[in-house]
Amino acid sequence: MNKSESEISYTGKYTPLSRTELVKKLQEALTPSRFNHVLRVEQTAIQLAQKYGESVEKASIAGLVHDYAKQRPDADFIRAIKQYRLDDNLLNYGNAIWHGVVGWLFVAKELQIENIDILKAVEYHTVGHQYMSKLAQIVYMADYIEPGRDFPGVSKAREATEISLAAGVSCQTQQTLSYLIENKLPVYPQTIITYNAWVPVQTKE
Ligand code: GDP
Ligand code: FE
Ligand code: FE
Repeated sequence: MNKSESEISYTGKYTPLSRTELVKKLQEALTPSRFNHVLRVEQTAIQLAQKYGESVEKASIAGLVHDYAKQRPDADFIRAIKQYRLDDNLLNYGNAIWHGVVGWLFVAKELQIENIDILKAVEYHTVGHQYMSKLAQIVYMADYIEPGRDFPGVSKAREATEISLAAGVSCQTQQTLSYLIENKLPVYPQTIITYNAWVPVQTKE
């Protein structure tokens, strides 16, 4: 991919930072492999934004920042959960859930992003939500199907996302819940709410 394809310039509507400044902050906050994942999620989110008619700039910003909090110490999250009086049940989970569900607060404060759509996309990127905007669906899917991902079910998720964002969201949500149950992992309640909103083909059963 050449430079003009991969780097877009920002209008300043969503963050006062330039893309270069934002990328630098991500590089400082993350390990090299996580940083490269974030760049691939950005590119995948941009492609989905073009395909499904969403702002390419918002997709770029949300893709870049979605895992900003991934490498933060647990103490930062525990402090934030108490300070902002978030659900106490969060304390029974760890970084896998916190980096999105709590991490968006650090994105807002430290990366100077106020746009609610972008912040919600970060908040929901791991566990989803019953109501996900087009941008939130794009980030949720781009994170799961970016070209570096290789796990059973990734091709199915890529094919579903080609059909529609909703088909992609349904596929990922079903596969994640199956994976968690198969491995006897604790399911965060929001993950079940997302499942019920996006996966069942028939209701009232
Ligand atoms: P990443 O940050 O790019 O690695 O991707 P995600 O933010 O989507 O997911 C982080 C991890 O959280 C993945 O391993 C998911 O399987 C896991 N995860 C998603 N939902 C749940 C849940 O309800 N409970 C638990 N325990 N893990 C979950
Ligand atoms: Fe993540
Ligand atoms: Fe990610």
